[in-house]
Amino acid sequence: MTNFDASAPEMVLVRYGELALKGKNRGMFEQALIRNMRSACASISPLRVEQRRGRITVIPERRVGDVARRLQDVFGIKTVSPAWGAEPTPEAIAEIARLVLADALLDYPPGVEIPFRVRSSRSEKRFPLTSVELDQFVAPRALEGVSNVKVDLKHPELTLGIEVRTERAYVFVKRLPGPGGLPGGTLGRVLCLLSGGIDSPVAAWLAMKRGCHVDFVTFHSYPYIGEASKQKVVALVRALSRFQAECRLFVLPFTEVQEAIRDNAPPPYRTVLYRRMMQRLASRIAQAQRMKALVTGESLGQVASQTLENMACIGAAAELPVIRPLSCYDKEEAIEIARRIGTFELSTLPEPDCCTVFMPPKAVIKGRLDVCEESEALLDVEGLVERSLAGVEVIDVAG
Ligand code: ATP
Ligand code: MG
Repeated sequence: MTNFDASAPEMVLVRYGELALKGKNRGMFEQALIRNMRSACASISPLRVEQRRGRITVIPERRVGDVARRLQDVFGIKTVSPAWGAEPTPEAIAEIARLVLADALLDYPPGVEIPFRVRSSRSEKRFPLTSVELDQFVAPRALEGVSNVKVDLKHPELTLGIEVRTERAYVFVKRLPGPGGLPGGTLGRVLCLLSGGIDSPVAAWLAMKRGCHVDFVTFHSYPYIGEASKQKVVALVRALSRFQAECRLFVLPFTEVQEAIRDNAPPPYRTVLYRRMMQRLASRIAQAQRMKALVTGESLGQVASQTLENMACIGAAAELPVIRPLSCYDKEEAIEIARRIGTFELSTLPEPDCCTVFMPPKAVIKGRLDVCEESEALLDVEGLVERSLAGVEVIDVAG
């Protein structure tokens, strides 16, 4: 006990929800989760990981608080608690609880009465007290000599958590939210069409959250669109690499495609036809890389090109399933996530996007597939696709 430091937690309790439900795949999901946790924390500290019955305990060599914060970004994790270990006896737990509580109270202003409770749980059923008895044993001992705390079981502001398990007991005061979802990569690989806008980075994050490993493709129309626009997309991929250690960005030249559409197609159809070419090109890359789906930031009704009719025309050019995580989100909801994941500031930098090149005065609202196909019959679609793919630039970004 002499070395006990109540200001420096010793380990992190990791709670993960949904994957516990995934039957036979559970072991695979847990291994992926642990692998992702280690790689997320690689630059902070090596981790010792103990895994028992639906719970993971992480024991970092150093910087436990930083490890806990980092784990808050790892998909599949519901909550994390920086924690201290104790001998699994009521007396030892109460002593640690007293020190941890005293330290936690330093965060509150003096003179304010703080509603407080102890909440115990035990998976070690041989422990001599029930959970409620342990609460009642610990609370008065932890509160000895403390004046600015009142017990309030219903609406506590500060909850001292105790978990008694076979290997040891854990004491903690914080439950920090993780992102939830499924461990990254467990569902397979997908390709996200990433513009410099607000929505597609959010769509990529949502796909990652559901277990996809996401790589990226962006379409760039040099010299109509400059280097700064490309660098903005690279910066967005770098921001997203916080959530997925390795991200690959394919940059495809799109100038010739846009010029061909400008010169040959009815102006109101330009945007829909650009988008159809994007779907074709993305499908080719995804197939060559054995990716299973495309992801876009499209959202129903948000702009003229995102009516049901136009989305049908655009989607019809894809050769893989298209996932549109934001299809039923409001813009404010997407913005809220963009702020939370740190892409909003980058997305709102005022760089132009290739979609703004050769914009017609009036865009079609209810596009028709037969008109799209007639227009494309005048283009050398296959030649345009091949020449764009031949000009691919691959940029790898490590988180
Ligand atoms: P975002 O905010 O992601 O740009 P948006 O709401 O502005 O989306 P659009 O600009 O109509 O919608 O684009 C719809 C989707 O098409 C984008 O979310 C993205 O997936 C894809 N997309 C558009 N432009 C590009 C581009 N230059 N490179 C790659 N993908 C693009
Ligand atoms: Mg856009």
